[in-house]
Amino acid sequence: MPIPMFAVIPLQENDTHPSPWRAFARCRTEDSAIFFPPDGERPTARTARERAAKQICRQCPVSVQCLDFALTTGQQHGVWGTTTPMERNKRPRARQSPDTKPLKEFRQSSERV
Ligand code: SF4
Repeated sequence: MPIPMFAVIPLQENDTHPSPWRAFARCRTEDSAIFFPPDGERPTARTARERAAKQICRQCPVSVQCLDFALTTGQQHGVWGTTTPMERNKRPRARQSPDTKPLKEFRQSSERV
């Protein structure tokens, strides 16, 4: 099961990772198990876990960058930028900037869940 990179790789001053927004991720101090399902997770537990993850994402200052990263890199597991894998898979296929209207509407509709 994939683990969010920002949960396992501590940022260093000389970090050259191409996603510097990770330094501001709200989930850096959270248990990654909130964002990524355990094997065999039941639907009711998944719903509760994803809601808890989304609550954290809603307080995150880099949720737009996070969602853009997840969409751009095709993340198929876990909650990223207030979205579940199922929600991300429902979005239009073409990569779009976070400021374009369809992605903005997609983010807003995901935040209501
Ligand atoms: S939006 Fe959520 S998953 Fe993404 S960096 Fe912020 S807290 Fe972490």
